[in-house]
Amino acid sequence: MKALPKGETINVTENLNFYAGHEPKNLIEKYESPLYVYNENIFRQKCKDMKNIVSYENFQVNYAIKANTNLTLLSIAREEGLCADVSSSGEIVAAMAAGFLPNEIIFIANNISAKEMLFAIEKGILISVDSISQLETYGKIAKGSNVAIRFNSGIGGGHHEKVITGGDGTKFGIMPEYIPQIKEILKKYNLKLVGINHHIGSQNWGDLYIDGVKELLNIAYQFKDLEFIDLGGGFAIPYNKQNGEKPLNLEVLKQLLESYMNEFKESYGKNIKFMIEPGRYIAAECGIVLGTVNSIKTNGEIKYAGTDVGFSVFARPTLYDAHHDIEIYRQSNNSEAENIKEEINIVGNQCESGDYIAKERYLNLKEEDIIAILDAGAYGYSMSSNYNHRPRPAEVLIREDGSLELIRKRESLEDIIKNMIDL
Ligand SMILES: *Cc1c(COP(=O)(O)O)cnc(C)c1O
Repeated sequence: MKALPKGETINVTENLNFYAGHEPKNLIEKYESPLYVYNENIFRQKCKDMKNIVSYENFQVNYAIKANTNLTLLSIAREEGLCADVSSSGEIVAAMAAGFLPNEIIFIANNISAKEMLFAIEKGILISVDSISQLETYGKIAKGSNVAIRFNSGIGGGHHEKVITGGDGTKFGIMPEYIPQIKEILKKYNLKLVGINHHIGSQNWGDLYIDGVKELLNIAYQFKDLEFIDLGGGFAIPYNKQNGEKPLNLEVLKQLLESYMNEFKESYGKNIKFMIEPGRYIAAECGIVLGTVNSIKTNGEIKYAGTDVGFSVFARPTLYDAHHDIEIYRQSNNSEAENIKEEINIVGNQCESGDYIAKERYLNLKEEDIIAILDAGAYGYSMSSNYNHRPRPAEVLIREDGSLELIRKRESLEDIIKNMIDL
């Protein structure tokens, strides 16, 4: 078996030694198609990148686990010295199951019930609330305790409207003009504001992130007893590697971040802790979805490759128009003439027109080809569903020594109906 002739694009998996000698075809024979495949080396390297993003001493990386909550990956993140940023009780359960201690978890909560707050409080997990009304709710049930607040500093940015989480047009955070009310509520319930955070959005390349840091630090000066400032996640990854897109320049970011951190530490007069909350940066590039081409057809002008990767398996292209590089693996050798690339849409097997993986790519695809959707480790499995009653795929991990490990079983058809009650 061999990959298609390279043409003008970069063979990303070969560059990364992603499969560590395993054949995608064999992986699919063993675990069925479609399949999530992760590479442990890459995951660990991304954890290290973030840990070392600054040399500022009192610094903590909270992995935003919603990007990928597989327990094995969470345990590895913990081994690498990361803490966890969670967004629900379900994620608290996952983080704790993977060994994170309550003081290594922060719950960045959005519109949660008093009951969900209590769930975290009883476990000793710090909550960051993101509205005046949630702060009131928190005060009533947890008088005299520590709390954090998510601000909306007015800065927002991301790769798609749906992932911008700062600025006027979003539901997140408390705007700084409410600081007087915040102070009243803190006093009323004897709450201690130990930290502030924000998160401006996803897939940011640096400039906007730094603009956000400046704004958040201005807010921080208005509170005297902070123990930490959490600058949020959103670090970009290159989704166009086949065309040579370069990774985030960590060196430039490091210098800028360190200068703001050190300056703040001096003027605030305290060795305050800084945190970040990367999700995508940690998990995206270590993961691939493998799928199989079941049919090729032309409707009108447009050629389609129909695969078993529907948006119940991988939702990002459908949800965000996201670009993901595609690699093709073919068993038999074909002559050059048969390998002519043409414009093609790669789609899934679901009953929705919006169900697609890649639009208008120049590729040569045939039935039974195996395709790889690259950079699928973040917001891949974690956004999958059972739509059309399709079982979610298995997840396998290629360990550092190259061995293969099943880290989530494929769902069965019975799993999908088991919670339903037929009266
Ligand atoms: C989703 C999220 C993150 C992580 O975002 P990435 O773009 O994956 O880095 C960080 N913080 C909060 C509060 C989030 O909701």
